[in-house]
Amino acid sequence: MNFTNNCPHTIFWKDFNSQKITLFLMGDIRKDYVIDREVIFNPTTKKNTSTTKCPYCPGNESMTNPSLLSLVARDGMLQRLQDDDDSFVENWSVRVFESKNPVVSTSTENTYTDRPLYSEPAYGYHYIVVASPQHKDTLATIDIEQWSNVLVVIQDRLRWLYTQRGVTYVSVFVNHGKGAGSIVDHSHINVVSFSTLPPIIEAEAASSHKIYNERGVCPMCQIVNTENDGPRQILQTEEFIAFCPWAPSHPFEFWICPKKHTTSFSKITQKEINSVSLILRSTLGGLAETVKDLAFNLVFHLSPEKKNNRQIHWHIEVYPITHPSSGLERGFGVFLHAVSPEQAAEKLGAASRKELAKIVGIE
Ligand SMILES: [Zn+2]
Ligand SMILES: [Zn+2]
Ligand SMILES: [Zn+2]
Repeated sequence: MNFTNNCPHTIFWKDFNSQKITLFLMGDIRKDYVIDREVIFNPTTKKNTSTTKCPYCPGNESMTNPSLLSLVARDGMLQRLQDDDDSFVENWSVRVFESKNPVVSTSTENTYTDRPLYSEPAYGYHYIVVASPQHKDTLATIDIEQWSNVLVVIQDRLRWLYTQRGVTYVSVFVNHGKGAGSIVDHSHINVVSFSTLPPIIEAEAASSHKIYNERGVCPMCQIVNTENDGPRQILQTEEFIAFCPWAPSHPFEFWICPKKHTTSFSKITQKEINSVSLILRSTLGGLAETVKDLAFNLVFHLSPEKKNNRQIHWHIEVYPITHPSSGLERGFGVFLHAVSPEQAAEKLGAASRKELAKIVGIE
């Protein structure tokens, strides 16, 4: 079978049951006829994983791929270990391994097709970072030190991935709760690389670049200035600010942003890691107090870290999933919410400040 065939439809019809077709279906990213929208076909996305055992819990390590990094606290030190062929590292606090249901793969067919039926290989790496050994922990309950460890591990993965061939962008994101696309309940973070820029990063980077050229200022630096101590601010620390954006796509959506212009997350210091951990933990704790049965997506919008790429002032965006999308939202990109970002910030601010007080020990 010829995989450089320009018409993928022919391939679907001809040989639907063969192994190669499965690879083909799993192995490509298609772009929309006209707009910048991409789709990956991943049959395992809907896989039923409802067994009684949680694959991410300690003791069940054999249910996942071997760890590439198991962070173990021993004698006040953090050791970086990894599973070997016949034994698993025990007593880990953070564990990283390749996903068993990867959305991208390094063994995809090297096949491209042209517009209007554009497709390219879904080439890349998909890692899972398990955020805590405790099944009941969530990203809104783990302590600051644990959050810091998770972020250090993510930095480590980012640095390694950007040295790899075929890695142009590394996406870091969380699906928490059923409504947010989570397959495994146990708290974890996805790290997925792409060989091209994902459309939203491309758009943010292009707009930032354009604004910078026109006005000589980074738009996110301007946003930080505008939202500082304003009606949409939730919380701020010395280095970071959390606020509800002026025009959110989700009710109670908030962003966390370094106050100083910073384009590289993988180069931030341990002090900054601790600071972002504190604001993340406080705001997610506040969100969990504010929204019942919380489901959310959390995404890191980071710069592509290879040379000659447009950079963005990095930030984190959190989208609480509180209601299904309407036709106006899906079909026209016009969002309709019952809660304004100013009202959301008031509630989230009060709840997050309480969380912060508990964490730093002021009641
Ligand atoms: Zn578990
Ligand atoms: Zn900036
Ligand atoms: Zn963004």
